[in-house]
Parts: sequence; C-alpha cells; structure tokens
Amino acid sequence: SPPLIAIVGRPNVGKSTLFNRLVGRRLALVDDTPGVTRDRREGEGRLADLRFRLVDTAGLEQGGPGSLAKRMHDQTAAAVDQADLALMMIDARAGVTPADEHFAAWLREKSTPTVLLANKCEGAAADSGVYEAYALGLGEPIAVSAEHAGGMGELYDAIRQAL
Ligand code: GDP
Ligand code: MG
Repeated sequence: SPPLIAIVGRPNVGKSTLFNRLVGRRLALVDDTPGVTRDRREGEGRLADLRFRLVDTAGLEQGGPGSLAKRMHDQTAAAVDQADLALMMIDARAGVTPADEHFAAWLREKSTPTVLLANKCEGAAADSGVYEAYALGLGEPIAVSAEHAGGMGELYDAIRQAL
C-alpha cells in the first residue's frame, strides 16, 4: 500500500490548506463519530507522480482524561507513530514560536523521519522565519506556500528523498 505521511504542527500554520491541496476531494472518512473527522482527516495524496496516504492532524494540546484535547493529542501521536514520514509545518511569517519548539522537540524523540516545512513563503515577509526554522533541529526547512502552490517542486524532492 502507498506510504503514509502525517502533517503536524501548531494550529494555524496551514496544515489543512496543504492537506486540501494534496488530497483535494479524494477524502476518506476514517470514522463517522462526531468530531473524529475533524481530528483525523485522511485521504489519497498526490504530488506529480507520487502517491501516498495523507493524514491531517489536529494538535498536541494536553487535556484531561476523556477530553477532546486529549483525544486530539493521542490521534496526532498515533498518526506520527504510524507514518512513514512526518511533515512538520511552521508559519514562516510568524517565525518560530514556543509551540513550534515544543512540536519539534517532541518529533526529535520519535523515530519517524521528518521534513520541516516553512509555510506562507509567498513573499519576503517570510524570509527571516525560514532562517529561524533551522534552529528547530529538524534539518533544512523547505519554503512552501500551501495557499499559492509555492515550493511544490522542492516538497516533491524532499518527500522522494525521505521515503
Ligand atoms: P491549520 O490550523 O494548521 O490546519 O491551518 P489552516 O490550513 O487552517 O490555515 C490557517 C490560516 O493560514 C488560514 O487563514 C489559511 O488561509 C492561511 N494559510 C494557509 N496557507 C497559507 C499560505 O501559504 N500563505 C498564507 N499567506 N496564508 C496561508
Ligand atoms: Mg487544520
């Protein structure tokens, strides 16, 4: 079966925008329990001739037993554990935040290979955020614009190399 790729990162960096760009309407409902499709959306991703299963994750907030936050956290962790590759995304316009550092530290403890994406790079406002991203210790950041389809060739090369 095709490799599994999980998109992770703090809220609002553009994970779902990239998911929608790569999956479009080829969405699979993994569970019809209310709330679950929001937590874990999975579909058939395509990038040129690459085919993969793609999971859009919801976050790493801590929460008490039975809470939505805990379920989201556990689903994100399970997605990364199952994945052949994690795409860790930051918002290069916002720069590196403590939440990004938390995600990166968490991922560095995992055995899942990771490609770091610096999103929202369609303009010069993102340049310093791309340089900051090196400090996350996840290798060279790939500058992309999920909204404007920027950097998709570089993303293609990075996925090919990592899988
Ligand atoms: P998520 O919470 O990580 O899934 O982020 P979303 O995909 O929901 O995007 C959060 C916000 O960032 C939305 O307003 C998007 O339109 C915006 N966004 C996503 N990708 C880009 C991009 O490449 N450039 C810019 N400028 N905005 C983007
Ligand atoms: Mg989202």
